[in-house]
Amino acid sequence: MGNWENNIRKVVPYTPGEQPNQTDMIKLNTNENPYPPAPGVTEVLRNTDTDALRLYPDPAAKDLVHAIAGEYGLQDDQVFVGVGSDDVLAMSFLTFFNSEKPILFPDITYSFYDVWAELFRIPYERPALDEHFHIKKEDYFRENGGIIFPNPNAPTGVSLPLSDIEDIVEHNQDVIVIVDEAYVDFGTQSALPLIEKYENLLVVQTFSKSRSMAGMRIGFALACPKLIKYLNDVKYSFNSYTMNRTSIAAGVAAIKDQEYFLETCGKIIETREWTKKELRKLGFYFEESKANFIFAAHKNCPAEKLFQALREQYIYVRYFPGGRTGNHLRITIGTRNEMEVFINFVREYLRKENLWKF
Ligand SMILES: *Cc1c(COP(=O)(O)O)cnc(C)c1O
Repeated sequence: MGNWENNIRKVVPYTPGEQPNQTDMIKLNTNENPYPPAPGVTEVLRNTDTDALRLYPDPAAKDLVHAIAGEYGLQDDQVFVGVGSDDVLAMSFLTFFNSEKPILFPDITYSFYDVWAELFRIPYERPALDEHFHIKKEDYFRENGGIIFPNPNAPTGVSLPLSDIEDIVEHNQDVIVIVDEAYVDFGTQSALPLIEKYENLLVVQTFSKSRSMAGMRIGFALACPKLIKYLNDVKYSFNSYTMNRTSIAAGVAAIKDQEYFLETCGKIIETREWTKKELRKLGFYFEESKANFIFAAHKNCPAEKLFQALREQYIYVRYFPGGRTGNHLRITIGTRNEMEVFINFVREYLRKENLWKF
């Protein structure tokens, strides 16, 4: 046997949330939107010209870039698109994090960041969130090779005020600061206005959560034209045709329907606030979430025990074992009806197990 294994890039991959496929399940484990995409998306897919699929798509995905730019009041050269924000973020790590100094991101955050850092051999450090799961901005006022954090943070749902973000960007003008705004549309102020003032800021968003299109894979980055050009240079050195014809057309239809977008985000916010009230009545505690999920712990019931009990009823939530997150469940906000079924089950379970007094 030869030594071929010595020269292989060995990585520990990211573990995505489970994708069970039952008809009667309540799926609250991967922060998908419970509502369908905008009606225009169905229309586009129904009218797909399959004959055109023999042709390569537009490598610049100009139609989609233009539609996103229009929606956010930007020029086309301030927009980069990719295959979900995971693709956009991976390209951004590759493009912007090339220092010998460590990049910084919180100890509790999106668990893909350390995977990309390991994959691309980028040194990193993880300043700890405070005891209320809040980012301490001062932790980011030191020498580093770049900064990334989600706002609101995942899986905590806690958001950072725009003034704190500006402080972090202001203190770090020699590196790139990336704000991952996967959940920003559920009630957090976007850092987007700051891109006109700071060349070193990249704002990343996705169609997967607030636009109900996780299955289509569309993400985008907004920044000054120079940063977007650097991102495109790396993209064209890796894979020219990231965006397929169908997702370009469907993405344009989704972004154009602002009314539907606001309506569905509004419903999720309303259901989130209702769910918070119900969870508190049942003995749960959590920080104020501004995302489409709640990261909650119970005063008496261990998270893993409840996670298993829910699973047996085909109610799926996310559980991150170990460390500071090990007694919490991340519960995605579904429809009002799904959340009622969830809350009713939890209430009965806690009563039956004698874990809460009613
Ligand atoms: C869901 C999520 C993403 C990636 O979503 P895509 O489906 O790849 O667009 C990125 N960052 C955070 C924090 C997320 O929760």
